[in-house]
Amino acid sequence: MTKTWLITGCSGGFGRHLAQQAAARGDNVVATARNPETLRDLADRYPETLRVAALDVTNSEAIHAAVALTAEVFGRLDVLVNNAGHGFMGAIEEATPEEYRPLFDVNLFGLIETTRAALQLMRRTGGGRVVNLSSGAGIVGIGGHGYYNATKFAVEGLSEALAQEVAPMGIRVLIVEPGPFRTEFLGRSIAVAKRQIDDYSATGGAARSYREGNDGRQPGDPLKAVAVILKAIDSENPPLHLPLGPRAHFLAESKLVSFRKDIDAWRTLSIDTDYD
Ligand code: NAP
Repeated sequence: MTKTWLITGCSGGFGRHLAQQAAARGDNVVATARNPETLRDLADRYPETLRVAALDVTNSEAIHAAVALTAEVFGRLDVLVNNAGHGFMGAIEEATPEEYRPLFDVNLFGLIETTRAALQLMRRTGGGRVVNLSSGAGIVGIGGHGYYNATKFAVEGLSEALAQEVAPMGIRVLIVEPGPFRTEFLGRSIAVAKRQIDDYSATGGAARSYREGNDGRQPGDPLKAVAVILKAIDSENPPLHLPLGPRAHFLAESKLVSFRKDIDAWRTLSIDTDYD
């Protein structure tokens, strides 16, 4: 059955691949980007089924306009993909509020506002999928990536709660947790703390050199990732968590092991805290 999609952050990377693949198989797509010119070629290739909207996810009016356009042109919404996001590297003490707040504005608050606006339409048209781009960084915190971790951990918690709230309406939530994939993410989509403190050279400093050594060399193929995401969206029983790539799987497995270790080591003491 033909689906109708609304996707944020389609100028490149996962968002663009998803918009392209969905349109190529005959689905209806509202592809959005801060600069809609970046989507002109897709709009020309799929004039009947792909619409472009200007959308900066920090702009609430633009979010509502994109959802209204989806309703007006296609009459329904089956798949919302909250993909827009960017990264930040630096130790917690190194970064200033001016540097780290924009990360939350896009990765978390933008996702929340887009979801709230889209759910009205999804509920009206009887179910669907909310696909939230988290990250391996939403599973395990790593020094030098703390602010990015914080935004993606928040996406995870929010998505788990949302999944329970919307399940009775036939809406399923899918949290996508990619490891390193070769998009623009480590290039133009990542900011770095200006202030560098020597004491954090092994954490904040290591994160900065990770970027330099890995941009354009990430092992993950975004087209393969998108193929798996499409399968999960189409599945009658999609997973709540979908780690993508060997690194994300390693992080998920190591989280399970370290969590287990902490719980077991302190079980007797930490469980015995209710009133006698
Ligand atoms: P990308 O190629 O850099 O794409 C990021 C997209 O987000 C761009 O289209 C960018 O648009 C858009 N964006 C940034 N701020 C925005 C805003 N305020 N409003 C609307 N769009 C905005 O990187 P990507 O890898 O495809 O990233 C997509 C998602 O995957 C992100 O949420 C990221 O955290 C997640 N992810 C990526 C990786 C990876 O290794 N690639 C791993 C884990 C998770 P502009 O062109 O306007 O900047």
